[in-house]
Amino acid sequence: VTGGAHGIGAAIAARLIEAGATVTIADLDPRGADSAAAIGAQFVACDITDTEQLANAVATAAGSEGLDISINNAGIFPTTGPVASVADDFVSRMLDVNVRAQFSATREAAAHMPRGGSIVNMASIAGLGGGANISAYAASKAAVVSMTHAHAIELGPSGIRVNAIAPGIIDTPGVQEQLEPLRSSGVDIGKRIAANPVGLAGQPDHIARAVLFLVSGLAAFVSGHVLVVDGGSTA
Ligand code: NAD
Repeated sequence: VTGGAHGIGAAIAARLIEAGATVTIADLDPRGADSAAAIGAQFVACDITDTEQLANAVATAAGSEGLDISINNAGIFPTTGPVASVADDFVSRMLDVNVRAQFSATREAAAHMPRGGSIVNMASIAGLGGGANISAYAASKAAVVSMTHAHAIELGPSGIRVNAIAPGIIDTPGVQEQLEPLRSSGVDIGKRIAANPVGLAGQPDHIARAVLFLVSGLAAFVSGHVLVVDGGSTA
């Protein structure tokens, strides 16, 4: 599970452990070592944009037995701002982490899946539609969607299913950080996060449960699918 130190990735790692999997968390935040220890996962310090570190993390997770599941969750979502203010290096960084590194993670993981397996990419509802001031992020997540389709077609014959989840707003450290300016200006963040048809504040575990479905035998005939988990906000 990349980016498993916090937020959605941490919840996914916990659910996978509960289901009996042996889990490795790869994250650039060294605090991930504590998150991993708390649930009985292995931790590898890794910046997924560094191909050597990524390859090492995947090989460590695979050990001598290989991998069955890979969760490409790590991603960044700094505020993009209006298009006129978005610099090239900002766009490059967004695409480097959210697209190129996820692509590399699939390449490395698939090489360690001799029995076939299941890969889940973390997309976003931002990659399915538009939105003001999030264009670079939206573009990166749209690329995750098309990459999911293409890798599902290519890796299916090797017994590897590739799916994505498109979460709506989920209450994570990353989202709290991003919404801080709104909170300071008096906006009720809790209400904001729960502003969807089912009226629930999206929690990391809502996404983890969907991941559990996708990697299980229940989803044996599901590949190339983008599962929207957003409380109906894009319905
Ligand atoms: P978060 O910021 O709370 O946690 C992300 C984790 O990824 C952190 O532990 C961070 O250290 C790690 N990470 C970031 N860059 C990394 C890198 N280069 N190498 C290794 N680890 C790295 O984020 P989150 O809210 O849990 O989001 C997880 C994923 O879900 C992201 O891909 C995000 O785009 C996606 N997503 C989140 C939401 C949401 O509302 N929270 C909605 C849609 C999609």
